Amino acid sequence: MASRMLHDSALNDLRRKFTGEVLTPDDPAYEETRPVFNAMIDRSPAVIALPRNEAEVARALAYGRTEGLQIAVRGGGHSVAGNSISDGLVVDLRHMNSVTVDPGARTVRVGGGATMADLDGATQPYGLATTGGRVSTTGVGGFVLGGGSGWLEREFGLACDNLLAVELVTADGELVRATGHNNRELFWALHGGGGNFGVATSMTLRLHPLPALTAALLMWPAAAGPEVVRAYRDFMEAAPDQAGGGLIYLTGGEEPPVPEDLVGKLACASLITYTGREAEARDVMAPMLGLGHTGELIGQMPYAQVQRMLDDPPGYRNYWSAEHLDAFPDEAVDLFCARAHDMVVPSPSQHVLFPQGGAVARGAELYPLPWRSAPWTVHPFGLWEDPADDARAKEWARGLREDLRPWTSGAVYLNFIGQEGRDRVVAGFGPENYRRLAAVKAQYDPENVFRLNHNITPAA
Ligand SMILES: Cc1cc2nc3c(=O)[nH]c(=O)nc-3n(C[C@H](O)[C@H](O)[C@H](O)COP(=O)(O)OP(=O)(O)OC[C@H]3O[C@@H](n4cnc5c(N)ncnc54)[C@H](O)[C@@H]3O)c2cc1C
Repeated sequence: MASRMLHDSALNDLRRKFTGEVLTPDDPAYEETRPVFNAMIDRSPAVIALPRNEAEVARALAYGRTEGLQIAVRGGGHSVAGNSISDGLVVDLRHMNSVTVDPGARTVRVGGGATMADLDGATQPYGLATTGGRVSTTGVGGFVLGGGSGWLEREFGLACDNLLAVELVTADGELVRATGHNNRELFWALHGGGGNFGVATSMTLRLHPLPALTAALLMWPAAAGPEVVRAYRDFMEAAPDQAGGGLIYLTGGEEPPVPEDLVGKLACASLITYTGREAEARDVMAPMLGLGHTGELIGQMPYAQVQRMLDDPPGYRNYWSAEHLDAFPDEAVDLFCARAHDMVVPSPSQHVLFPQGGAVARGAELYPLPWRSAPWTVHPFGLWEDPADDARAKEWARGLREDLRPWTSGAVYLNFIGQEGRDRVVAGFGPENYRRLAAVKAQYDPENVFRLNHNITPAA
C-alpha cells in the first residue's frame, strides 16, 4: 500500500545504486525481514533498505530524507520500544556484520549490523573477549552505543568503556570517524547516547584475554527466594570483580538443570559467571552452593555458549523497565521477592536483579551514564504470548518499580526500558549530560533525522 505513494523514479534510482536489497511490501523477502524482537511492534515500512557499505547507508538516508520518510536504523532489532522499525524507511544493517580481530593489538572492528554471536564467535578462537550482551542475538550497534551491560562488566567494564573508535554516517551522508583524538565530543556522546548522532557503520572495541569462564546456574523453589536473595546480595557485595551474573525469578523450563517439581512453575535462580577456572570459581561461590538448591549446572564453558544458553525467544509480546538501587536492605529484598509472584507464569519473563560494582562503578564520570555507580539494578523483563495478559504484565513491571522507589537512585539505563517519556530519557543521562548531548546532537543531526531512539532534542 505504502509503496504506491512513493516516487517510482527515486525508488528505482536507489535500487540501481544499491548492491544490497531494497525491499517494498511486494517483495517476497519483505515479510521475513520486517519483524523485530518485540511482537507488540507490528509496523509495515514503505521501504526496507539493506546496505552493504557506508556509501549505500548514505544513499539510503538521502533517499529517505528526499521522500520525507521517517527513518529507522536497525542493528539487531532488539529495541523493546520498536525503535528500529518505522512506517517509512528502515535502514537495516544486517549485511554489515563483518568482524575483524587484531589479536596483536587486542582490538576488534565490528560492523554496525553485527550481533553478539558474530562478535564473540570471532574473538573466541583467540582466547579474547570484551563485554557483550547477555544473549547472542542482540545487535552490537544498539547495545554498545547505549552503554552495554553484560556478564563480564564487573571485570572489563561496560561495553562502551571498551569502545575505541566509531565510524559514523551522519544525516547529511558524511562519513565521520570519532575517537579519543578526533571528534572527541561526538566520541563522548557515542558512549551511551545511542543512535542519536548517525549510523555507526563500524565500531572498534578493546579485547581482553579470557582463558577460561565458569558459569553456575543454581535453582530453588520460589518460596526459598527471600533467603536466597539475601544470601546472593551478601555474596555479591563481597565478591571479586571476576564474579558477575544475576538473580532471576523465572518459569522453570523442561530441560535440565530444572528439577521436575519446578517445571512450568515460578522458580528462583542465580547465574554466577566467573572469569576463571571451575575449581577457583567453586571456592569463590561457596556461600551460594550451600543454600540447598534443587537444580544445578556448573561448568567451564566458552563465553559464546553462555550467551547462547540464555537466548530469549523472539516473537513474544514485550514490556520491560528498570530501576537502579543505591541500597538493597532486607525490606527491599522482601518487596522484590513478593512482586515476583505477579509475573506472568508460565512465560519467558524474568524478574531480574543485576549486581553492578567493580569496573562498572569505576570511571563513572567519564561518560553520560549516571547510573553506573549504583550497586544494584532491578529489571522486570516481561515476555508473554497472550494479549489478554498485557495489562497484568505491565502492572507487574510498574509495581516492582513502585515498590522499590525508596531505594532508587533516579537514574536509568535506557537500553533496559521502552518509551517511558522525556523525563526518563533525561534521567538516563542526567540533566547536565543531557544538555551537553543536545549540543552534540545540534551539530551532527540538527533536524533530528535520527529520532527513533531515546531521543535527544537538538539544542536550539
Ligand atoms: C533478548 C534481549 C536481551 C538483552 N540483553 C541485554 C543485555 O544483556 N545488556 C544490555 O545492555 N542490553 C540488553 N538488551 C537491550 C539491548 O541492549 C537494546 O535493546 C539495544 O538497543 C539493542 O540493540 P540492537 O542493535 O539489537 O537493537 P535495534 O532495535 O536494532 O536498535 C536499537 C536502537 O539502536 C539504534 N542502532 C542500532 N544499531 C545502530 C547503529 N549501527 N548505528 C546507529 N544506531 C543504531 C537503533 O536505531 C535504535 O534506536 C537486550 C535486549 C533483548 C531483546
